[in-house]
Amino acid sequence: MADKRSPLIGVTCMTILTEDHSPRLGMSRSYVNALLRAGAAPLLIPHVADTGTLRALLGRLDGLLLPGGGDIDPERYGESRHEKCNEPSAERDDTELALARWAVEAGMPVLGICRGIQVLNVALGGSLYQDIAAQIPGAERHDWYPNHPRDRLSHAVTITPDTRLAHMVSATSLPVNSLHHQSVKDAAPGLVVSACSPDGIVEAVEAPEHPFTIGLQWHPEELAGSDARAQRLFDAFVEASRR
Ligand code: MN
Repeated sequence: MADKRSPLIGVTCMTILTEDHSPRLGMSRSYVNALLRAGAAPLLIPHVADTGTLRALLGRLDGLLLPGGGDIDPERYGESRHEKCNEPSAERDDTELALARWAVEAGMPVLGICRGIQVLNVALGGSLYQDIAAQIPGAERHDWYPNHPRDRLSHAVTITPDTRLAHMVSATSLPVNSLHHQSVKDAAPGLVVSACSPDGIVEAVEAPEHPFTIGLQWHPEELAGSDARAQRLFDAFVEASRR
């Protein structure tokens, strides 16, 4: 249960286009639920073009959660758009890339999930595969969506021993869900790869020099209601945000 002293965790939104063409801002409730179970006070963050306003928002937060969503504009990492890369959202890219950079600079805990690991990596100077199936020969299927349960355990990840991730889950292997078609290519300076799938896709990164900067390519928020190790990732993130 959250109280007055609960860490305030910002969760960035996505734009949802409705039938009447009035854009709505929202985010999957699973992230909010996982944060609530961890004792945080979650706060949804809109897309904001004004830098001063964004700075003011970030200044009130104790931690930043970058959630899942569509593809980042490859121009942001110096590539032209592959035909399998979906139409980007400039306002979401602008908002999240700025928040991610500033949060890391400020030493604020950051947890990036799915699109969020990609935002974190691009914000810090890394690059992405725009489509795993088209660009990585021999890769297994990672895009188990939209017609599959979001908690389907689709492959394992091997976790690098002695990383923060390994300590958080007390394991060096973990079965995970997989709802992505892009992945980290070159890890940004300052980030190390902390987990890979058996076919060599980067599934987690972290910043060893930072209090808590972690990116996960899978979706622990979809597992955390029934899987204690998945919930522990949110518990550790919220605990880091208390300091
Ligand atoms: Mn995967």
